Amino acid sequence: MAVLKNIRVVLVNTAHPGNIGASARAMKNMGLNQVTLVQPKDFPSGVAVGRAASATDILESAVVVDSLQEAVADCGLVICASARSRKIPWPMLNPEKTAQKVVEEMGVTNIALVFGREDSGLSNEELQLGHFHVQIPAEEKYSSLNLAAAVLVICYEIHKAASKKNTDAQCQGAEIWDQEFATGDQVEHFYQHLEQVMIDIKFHDPKNPRQLMQRMRRLFGRVRLDVMELNILRGILTNIEHSMERKKD
Ligand code: SAH
Repeated sequence: MAVLKNIRVVLVNTAHPGNIGASARAMKNMGLNQVTLVQPKDFPSGVAVGRAASATDILESAVVVDSLQEAVADCGLVICASARSRKIPWPMLNPEKTAQKVVEEMGVTNIALVFGREDSGLSNEELQLGHFHVQIPAEEKYSSLNLAAAVLVICYEIHKAASKKNTDAQCQGAEIWDQEFATGDQVEHFYQHLEQVMIDIKFHDPKNPRQLMQRMRRLFGRVRLDVMELNILRGILTNIEHSMERKKD
């Protein structure tokens, strides 16, 4: 799958550079490649590079800014990840719905996925910059994930939703077939023709049919023949008949 475009992960005030590196790795695993760092405590950093493994390109192209406002200035959709529900209720999404929204809107606008500080998360002011909040369901008694683990869960859902969208599009493509599908009648004539030719060439003994025709029906049923394919097969059968007749003469 191609890199998911227009989606940036924003890490606010990250204290541990290892978390920045591990987040970059999680992003690359899932096909995302833009990270914005809001006042990171320690960046650039060798520790971040070490934890990024093969995702150092994401660190190299990281954008560093002074405030969350600046980080999301050109974004039409901002989603803030928060482990806790806050006093003011806010439109909430679960990770799956977040991914759906992101995949729907990624061609339309820039999207920011915002993650907070390891110790205190996002401030109320920062959370209010989000159109939505996303909470990853976890154990009530300990629902706060490691920052990079939270990044991974959200990016994984986005990757999954985007792959599904691709497969769905390919499946829809099958409906826009260049030929009409053969009708039941046409296929039935084909089976009769096939059976006759198999008898003529002594491949099939109608007195001892076993399950040959059932198997043939299942085989071609799985393929869902179109009219062109069916005509080719009938043409082959007709030519077999002609060459047998010529041999008889
Ligand atoms: N102790 C902080 C959590 C910090 S974890 C707090 O209570 O807010 C660092 C960041 O990871 C969080 O700001 C959030 O963006 C993300 N995160 C961690 N666990 C999460 C969860 N269960 N759901 C959504 N985001 C989560």
